[in-house]
Amino acid sequence: MPAPEQLNSIINKQLPWQEELYKHFHRHPELGLKEFETSQRIESELVELGCEIHRFGGTGIVGVLRQDLGPVVLARADMDALPVREDTGLEYSSEVDGVMHACGHDMHVTTLLGAVRFFAENRQYWKGTYIALFQPAEETAAGAQAMIADGLVEILPRPEVALAQHVMPGEAGMIGTKPGPILSAGDCLRITIYGRGAHGSMPHNSVDPVVLAASIVLKLQTIVSRETQPGHFAVLTVGALNAGSTANIIPDRAQLLLNIRTYEPEIRQRMVESIRRVVRGECEAAGSPKDADFEFYDQFPLTSNDQTVNTRVTEAFENHFGTDQVYLTDPATASEDFSRIPDAFGIPYVYWTVGCTDAQQYRDASQRGTVSTEIPANHSPFFAPVINPTLATGTGAQVIAALAYLGSDLPE
Ligand code: ZN
Ligand code: ZN
Repeated sequence: MPAPEQLNSIINKQLPWQEELYKHFHRHPELGLKEFETSQRIESELVELGCEIHRFGGTGIVGVLRQDLGPVVLARADMDALPVREDTGLEYSSEVDGVMHACGHDMHVTTLLGAVRFFAENRQYWKGTYIALFQPAEETAAGAQAMIADGLVEILPRPEVALAQHVMPGEAGMIGTKPGPILSAGDCLRITIYGRGAHGSMPHNSVDPVVLAASIVLKLQTIVSRETQPGHFAVLTVGALNAGSTANIIPDRAQLLLNIRTYEPEIRQRMVESIRRVVRGECEAAGSPKDADFEFYDQFPLTSNDQTVNTRVTEAFENHFGTDQVYLTDPATASEDFSRIPDAFGIPYVYWTVGCTDAQQYRDASQRGTVSTEIPANHSPFFAPVINPTLATGTGAQVIAALAYLGSDLPE
């Protein structure tokens, strides 16, 4: 392992290049599976750095660096932006109307490219194979699966471990790690319920799906509040309820869109069963003429860090950044499709968070108890990670986590 000052000075020298890249990616966001220019630019940087290039799932791109025999490490960044109109007022704001890097994936891409550059130019510090994987469409949970379906596991060398990070509101320069679940499993569920349409003046001729849907929405609230053991994590949100189009017609169907978040597969399973039971029961009570349809979509797997890998990487972070910059984070209710990749290889992984808010601003807001209203979070049109020190910390974290494996066999 290089000494912290040594490593910091190497990374500091490449920061101007990274800052340019970051601003470039931030100005030119692209939606999931359409990251054409983004992946083109990543490819040209990877080629420049001497990587072997692979493409999977359309815009997915992988750069591989090899250096003697040794451990194989895979690090992943997501590349997609969101359908959000940027309102940060930054001089490097999005130049694409209605599309914005509002989740910081541009930071993930730039820090991973920074790590590739470190490994390409500082070969004395490591041995083995470094795989930098740039994944499309994280936001829609489609990208990791697309790369896997395109032969990722068959073509790449099997890594020993996989790494990923995410920027989040928090003091910039701070790194949060956690063994076990760190992000929830997320499921979207489309439920269509059926009634019988009628003239709005003749409700007795109808089975009113609007009233039925309203009843279902209320009853669904009891799945978390009454059926889930207090203290166990579960979220059930009805994010959309659509029925009818005009005041004097009772429609013949209604559609509900549900979002489910859990940390434990057993709880998830039980919630899904409860949802089906509630919907079936309410439909029967209303005299619905046809069984409801249930359709899952945009499903995110659980992100649960391997204990051993988490300990090894957390210790490496503490040695490099100092124990006061590394903390045990709470699990987040957000979800990710990253874990599909290590799961497809059958390997352990660790996923950590990097704070990206101006430290003083975050501390002040914490003191006032106004973090959630004052600090724009991911997916907000105001989300604006501070470049320094987020870029340096994120790059250092990717390098250090990989060196915990790639640097382990070297003579002292
Ligand atoms: Zn996001
Ligand atoms: Zn994200």
